[in-house]
Amino acid sequence: MTTTVAAPEDLNLHHIVKQQFDRAVPFADDLHGWRGIAEWLFEPECILEVTMPVRLDDGFVHMFRGYRVLHSSIRGPGKGGIRFHPDAGVDEVKALATWMSWKCALVDVPFGGAKGGVVCDPHLRSAGEQERITRRFTAALGDNIGPHTDIPAPDLYTNAQTMAWIYDTYSMMHPGEANLPVVTGKPVEIGGLAARDGATAQGAFYVTEHFLELGGLPGIETVDGVTVAIQGFGNAGRHAAHLFHEAGAIIVGVSDSKGGIYDPAGLDVGAVARFKDQHGTVVGYPGADTLPPTGVLEVECQILVPAAIENQITSNNADRIRAMVIVEAANGPVTPAADDMLAERGVKVIPDILANAGGVVVSYFEWAQNIENQQWETHDVLEKLRKKMRRATEVVVTRRAALVESIDTYRERWAEAMPDAPPIPLPDLRTAAQVVAIQRCRTAALHRGVWP
Ligand code: NAD
Repeated sequence: MTTTVAAPEDLNLHHIVKQQFDRAVPFADDLHGWRGIAEWLFEPECILEVTMPVRLDDGFVHMFRGYRVLHSSIRGPGKGGIRFHPDAGVDEVKALATWMSWKCALVDVPFGGAKGGVVCDPHLRSAGEQERITRRFTAALGDNIGPHTDIPAPDLYTNAQTMAWIYDTYSMMHPGEANLPVVTGKPVEIGGLAARDGATAQGAFYVTEHFLELGGLPGIETVDGVTVAIQGFGNAGRHAAHLFHEAGAIIVGVSDSKGGIYDPAGLDVGAVARFKDQHGTVVGYPGADTLPPTGVLEVECQILVPAAIENQITSNNADRIRAMVIVEAANGPVTPAADDMLAERGVKVIPDILANAGGVVVSYFEWAQNIENQQWETHDVLEKLRKKMRRATEVVVTRRAALVESIDTYRERWAEAMPDAPPIPLPDLRTAAQVVAIQRCRTAALHRGVWP
């Protein structure tokens, strides 16, 4: 007797982005015009790889590798974070840049998509080494970044301080110019917005709140009293924990790269944050059970917020997820195979390009403020953010309903256009969000035309 062993899931992020794109294609109207420009919309415009010598504290010189990918400038200059991570690689950065294009289109900010990464482990690097890496990377990027070409922001293991170094280095290279809009997520003292630090989590919160109001989780209309688990306790995760907690949610579990903690009665988020500041991890917080880093994904809760890294919910653990709604504060935490398994069980996934778009929305406000030399009030910024996030949530929920209603028509049209292709599955929220975003990029591309 032979046993069939399932092929391991392809976790290459750029392949995942392509799978998601291919799922959206059959739902894009105007099939003929569409198929002609699909490649244009999908392929990255520019992939830059640099190696940089940086002097370490012990006097040795180490070669670091960095990437910046401009996926699309069809809708405006590139926009996207820079991450420092030992596993950063070109396919990951290409994928993240592509998601940025869809994200900016979905929340309708006038940017294209970009992303950057430096291969390094910031936990092993002193502040001085991180500063030298950042400055050297900025110099290596040269005029590939700029206020009207490509505008970086913080991401995994980078923050306002990193952005201040980028701004300063770029300014040294472009004296006498108005350089503030070259980077967003800066400290408030140099043109940043107070709301930027918590903006990604704030956006995820507004989206979740409105998703529930729109009936996304039948029987539950507000986050008050809802149980929430959060993976990751950095910028996105920590702010999310505070925001959901303040709104009355019960935070039953949180985690960081060292592990997780769980208390079904609810954690005191303020006390957990103070513990993390003192000990560098949430693990060991008194009175809570300890979990392995991915354990928090599997705890009993109504809302799960992955806010750490990609590929966390895969075909290996999707059947053990007990949440009813997953809010992707991180980029790419749920794989396509896991999407299918979750959909089968009725678990809703609010996709990253919607759920974590608050960061880029407030980055856009910061960029606009810098260009106009204005200073915006925090309550105005938050109100504008709330409107954008609610509008985008409605657009996605409505589009999904419309796609599902017309599924027979889409299936017939697809079968005619692609007779050998398998039948298209029912679209989920991710596919609906991608369809909206990709159609907006396509419309912009068609208006602009192909140069020359
Ligand atoms: P961060 O560096 O501030 O925090 C990352 C957190 O994840 C830390 O608590 C870290 O300990 C934890 N972590 C890392 N590896 C882990 C693992 N294997 N298991 C469990 N926890 C782990 O980063 P961030 O800015 O909060 O970014 C988190 C995610 O949100 C990333 O996917 C990023 O791309 C996405 N995102 C961030 C922003 C932003 O504005 N910062 C915007 C959009 C999306």
